[in-house]
Amino acid sequence: MNDLFNCNGCKNNCSIEIIKDGNRITYNGYKCSKGLSYAKLNSSEESKIVTARAILTNGKMSKIPVRTTTEIPCNLIADVIQTIENTKVQAPIEKGTVIIKNILGTGADVVAQRRVV
Ligand code: SF4
Repeated sequence: MNDLFNCNGCKNNCSIEIIKDGNRITYNGYKCSKGLSYAKLNSSEESKIVTARAILTNGKMSKIPVRTTTEIPCNLIADVIQTIENTKVQAPIEKGTVIIKNILGTGADVVAQRRVV
């Protein structure tokens, strides 16, 4: 069975083919390891709590670790990560602050995993 996954990791918008043959999965069409990682996440069959890093402005570091408050369905994990990685957050920020409410309509919020002043 083949699936197509559109990677939004950069402006190339690669179309990645996910080929499932029994227990074997192969990927075609990605141009970098980031795209391969996204495609692998997208082909996972498990819902997961997603952790990623959002862009931090006005702080001591350039990224802030965040996580979802509930599990994300497997077919949305890559999109959720890409959305988080493109989100800008301004310091100061407290641990637990909601960065994105109801991300992609999943019902999960995305919260800061640490305090940054
Ligand atoms: S696979 Fe790599 S080059 Fe292609 S869209 Fe994704 S991030 Fe960009």
